[in-house]
Amino acid sequence: MKAFFIEKPREGIVRDTEIPVPAEDEILLEVKAAGVCGTDVHIYKGEYFGSYPRIPGHEFSGVVAGIGEKVTKFKVGQQVAADPNIFCEACDSCKENRQNFCLDMDVVGVKRHGAFAQYLTVPERCVFDVSGLTFTEASMVEPLSCVVYGQEKAGIPLGASVLIFGAGPIGLMHVQLAGINGAASVTVVDLFEDKLALAKKLGADHTYTPAEFEKLGLVNSFEVVIDCTGVPRVIEGEIKYVKDSGTILFFGVCPDNSSITINPYEVFKRELKLCGSFALKKTFGKAVALAKSGKINLIDLVDKKLLLEEAPELFEDIVSGNSGLKTVFYPNGIEGY
Ligand SMILES: [Zn+2]
Ligand SMILES: [Zn+2]
Repeated sequence: MKAFFIEKPREGIVRDTEIPVPAEDEILLEVKAAGVCGTDVHIYKGEYFGSYPRIPGHEFSGVVAGIGEKVTKFKVGQQVAADPNIFCEACDSCKENRQNFCLDMDVVGVKRHGAFAQYLTVPERCVFDVSGLTFTEASMVEPLSCVVYGQEKAGIPLGASVLIFGAGPIGLMHVQLAGINGAASVTVVDLFEDKLALAKKLGADHTYTPAEFEKLGLVNSFEVVIDCTGVPRVIEGEIKYVKDSGTILFFGVCPDNSSITINPYEVFKRELKLCGSFALKKTFGKAVALAKSGKINLIDLVDKKLLLEEAPELFEDIVSGNSGLKTVFYPNGIEGY
């Protein structure tokens, strides 16, 4: 089969490799669609844990092409997606229901080979039926499940005003989910007019560029502020917009050695809640259900559909600063997915 390997940081190549053989509790999946995520770029740049050579790709969907002898819930030909986080369910973290901090976690596309390949294997217990969704939509269930987890952690009160910084694919999922979670109004801030227009189309009530938004002076106005920029300097400026007793969710991934200045007196006096959410935990099924409900538009978040052969060039492009919306690879051909 063909696969995109990151041989070592900044060195990506598409080459032939053996089709993996599923273990007794695994399924072999023919990858139909696989989305590119910031994590893949971090691995490409050598900024993330994991070893090389690595086939990245942890947001994927496809068809069951084979099953291990102990697999009972899936059959060949079924359309599926999978939670890439393989929890051990035996360590102290897992036993305390903190599986996203599993001490023995395996992650598809990070610690084992991922979906930028024609086939991959994944344990049956991570697999979900996605029949009724397009493969493109189903490949975006994974990031959606992270967004679901983030909003579960932050908690959006009914009737809340929600402010979202950053209108990339993740921010645009937050926009839609905030509405479903009962926000009375969703405000989005982004540098780019085309992304703001898409945010409006997907349900944002108000959209602004940072300069426009700052002029409005809406300090102490939003029950929940969600950062999807991962830019420390931007986050520093977001805290003042949180309403007294409100929450700021740090969702965008900042550099791991970054810092911001927070006035602890303000946190005390205004009862601010600083909230993080890491990856996902048992929210994949909820995200599948939301995607199947048709209440979340995932298709409009895709702006590039590529063959695997285009991966090396794409990654170099991204590293040199060209980030659009979602890129999806089709390792077994595009064919109108
Ligand atoms: Zn991801
Ligand atoms: Zn564990």
